[in-house]
Amino acid sequence: MTEFKRAIRRLLGSSLVGTGLHRGLLRGRHTSVLFHRVDDRLDRNPISCTSREFREFCDFFQKYFEVISLGELCRRLRSGEPIGGTLSISFDDGYRDNRTIAAPILSERGLPATFFVTTGFIGTDRVTPWDRELGIRSEWMRWDDVRDLKEMGFELGAHTVNHVDLGKVHGPLAREEILESRARIEAETGAEVRSFSYPFGGVQHFTEANRELVRELEFECCLSAFGGIVGQDTDPFRLPRLPVSPWYRSAAELGFQIALGNNRRI
Ligand SMILES: [Zn+2]
Repeated sequence: MTEFKRAIRRLLGSSLVGTGLHRGLLRGRHTSVLFHRVDDRLDRNPISCTSREFREFCDFFQKYFEVISLGELCRRLRSGEPIGGTLSISFDDGYRDNRTIAAPILSERGLPATFFVTTGFIGTDRVTPWDRELGIRSEWMRWDDVRDLKEMGFELGAHTVNHVDLGKVHGPLAREEILESRARIEAETGAEVRSFSYPFGGVQHFTEANRELVRELEFECCLSAFGGIVGQDTDPFRLPRLPVSPWYRSAAELGFQIALGNNRRI
């Protein structure tokens, strides 16, 4: 996207949201936003934002939305209670800065969030292919950090053991990846894990058989990462999320997308 287009979007986004026009557009809709990393050393990294940017996003969420946990979203979807104007925040993968940088910023503002943890990464030096490509060393939380998140009142979610592509992995191996990740988080932290986000998050990264498996294994929701807004009738096992990084550089840009209320990135 050109800088000019970005500037126009920022302007439109700020005015739509600033005047409260987005409220009408968001009637009956929930926005679920996804982050990965908040790290000032990695400016403009595809899956990172800086702490300043993250603070601005959080202020934006707090000012214009009712921020609820994923647990609360699922409860409302089940009971039919209105979800209009609500927003949920989640993080995928388990980067160390989730605990050291993002969690305190969320806590200061009293914002709930869910941290989806790839259990095989926690406490290790494993470098992911996407970090290797960028020449970055992946820094993961330790289990103490994950326990801290639970103690701070955040929800924890499963994201497989080895960040496998569940569009390609099937049957017993898929089952093991999903079940084992939940069991490990529960054993390490004592938290009850009810939500699952599938790795890579694209349409092609999940099969219907694996979605059924997540349902059978008694999770209460399953989240993707290819964009879209949650409606009152959305199946909790097909919850779309807007991946903030790398799609949006500012709250105003995100506001533009949300105000349009469209289902996919444009
Ligand atoms: Zn992931």
